[in-house]
Amino acid sequence: MARSCDSSIDNRPRLSYDSAPLKTEVDQAGPATALVFNLKRDSPFSFKCQVCSVCCSNKAIRLGPYEALRLARSLKISTTKLYRTYAEEGATVLRNKPDGSCIFLNSRGCGVHPDRPLVCRLFPLGQLGHGQDSDKLGIMPLHPDCLGLVDTDGTVGSYLESQGAGAYFQYDQVYSAIYKRIRERLPCLQAADPEENRRGAFAPGGLLSPWLDIDAGVAAYGRRQKSEKPENPDELIRLHIQAMEDWIAGL
Ligand code: SF4
Ligand code: SF4
Repeated sequence: MARSCDSSIDNRPRLSYDSAPLKTEVDQAGPATALVFNLKRDSPFSFKCQVCSVCCSNKAIRLGPYEALRLARSLKISTTKLYRTYAEEGATVLRNKPDGSCIFLNSRGCGVHPDRPLVCRLFPLGQLGHGQDSDKLGIMPLHPDCLGLVDTDGTVGSYLESQGAGAYFQYDQVYSAIYKRIRERLPCLQAADPEENRRGAFAPGGLLSPWLDIDAGVAAYGRRQKSEKPENPDELIRLHIQAMEDWIAGL
């Protein structure tokens, strides 16, 4: 039997997991329709970032389950604490400081660089959609003060590899597919005003938090199965996927 959605709604105008056409909402980018996402892995492309951090402000950086896990382990906290401390409450977007800069930006640059979210790895490339759409890439408009150099002495594929994007794409596909199946089982997520319903569902403690919050999802599953929570991230994800399968079967 289909379950009903959590009624707690976050009304702030932020993105939820499948509502945004872009991985990044870029303040200066203009409407997504004005951008062209026609790059392939073998398209000529290179980019030399000058690490000035100008582009780390006034963005809505959305977090998927794997991105949150990477950040959480980098900070030596749980994904539950990561969402509560560093994401907009009731959404899946990184907090900005009052001056608009990213919560992880410090005087030396990105404080979580090795585990930064996918959108930060891709920039100035942008991705249209998720999962199966991960090949739809385009060049985003640069900040007017960006000193980075776009060139053609490489390929999109080599750039993505240099940015360590592989595991992020892989788990984006895995979690997008799981999310799609959960959504099919929960009519409330397809309701007339899905955006509001989804915001509430993604909120901490909301209906979709077991999907979003890997540590909490695995802990709950472990209590039911009377099993230990693994430390190894790949093992943790494997168990989380198992927990999601178990959950979907019961929806
Ligand atoms: S503004 Fe341009 S040069 Fe500066 S960090 Fe961002 S991408 Fe790199
Ligand atoms: S996570 Fe790092 S790279 Fe991404 S916006 Fe924040 S400071 Fe910049």
